[in-house]
Amino acid sequence: MLPYNPFQKFGLNSVTAVFSRKQDGNMSLSYGDTKSSLANRKKFLGSIGIDYRSLICAQQVHGKNVEYVRQENKGSGALDYASSIMDTDGFITDQPGVPLAILTADCLSIFIYDPERPAIAILHAGWRSTEKNISQAGISRMREKFGSQAKDLLVGFGPSIRSCCFQVEEDFKSNFSFGLLKREGGIFMDIALINQRQLVGCGVEEENIFDPAFCTFSDDDFFSFRKEAQAAGRLISVMMLK
Ligand SMILES: [Zn+2]
Repeated sequence: MLPYNPFQKFGLNSVTAVFSRKQDGNMSLSYGDTKSSLANRKKFLGSIGIDYRSLICAQQVHGKNVEYVRQENKGSGALDYASSIMDTDGFITDQPGVPLAILTADCLSIFIYDPERPAIAILHAGWRSTEKNISQAGISRMREKFGSQAKDLLVGFGPSIRSCCFQVEEDFKSNFSFGLLKREGGIFMDIALINQRQLVGCGVEEENIFDPAFCTFSDDDFFSFRKEAQAAGRLISVMMLK
C-alpha cells in the first residue's frame, strides 16, 4: 500500500508526509516488541526513498518543546532509542533531506508545511501536549525561526484515537473548554478537533487543515495503546522537505 500523504489534497509534491500502518510493523525502538523495528523502518522508509539511518527521532515526553533540527542532527534516534533528541515532542526544519519522525499509538501526529519559506514541522500531540497547546508552540517556533505566517500554513493530521473511543475522566472538563463530547456513558475527547481549533486560533485557515479522521482504536490498521496496553507497538509519522 502506498503511504498516505495528507498534502496530496493540496496537490503539493515538494514535501514527504507519511505515516505507517500496523501491517508495516512496530516502528519503536523502546515500546512493544522491538526485535523487528529496525527492519520495519528500513522497509517502510525505503519504499518512499528515505534512508532509515538518517531519521531524526525524539525522546517524547508529552510536553510542548519543539526543537529546530538540521543536517547535522540526522541519525539521532535512528538506530537506538538512547541517541534520540531528548525532551521534545516536535521538530521544525527548513533544510531539505532531513527526515523528522514522531512515534505514536493513539496520540495525534501533526504535519505542518509552510510552502512559502519553505519549512516544516511535525508534532506529537497526546492529550497532555494538547492541553499545553503544542500546536501553538510549533507555529510560534516556525515564526521565530523562519518567519512563517500562520495564513500560509498547510496542516495534515495523522491517525489518533477519536471521540468515538476516547473516554476521559470528568475532571478533564476543567482543563478543556472545547473538544469534549458528553454522551451516554461518559465524556469523550477529540484530540484532533481540539488541535484544529487551536490551529485556527493561531491564524491557520480552516480549509488548510486536512483531517483524514482515522481512529486508532476503532481501526485495526493502527496500533492503539488504549486497546493493546504495554504490548502496543508504535506507528511512525515522517515528514521531510524534498
Ligand atoms: Zn474510534
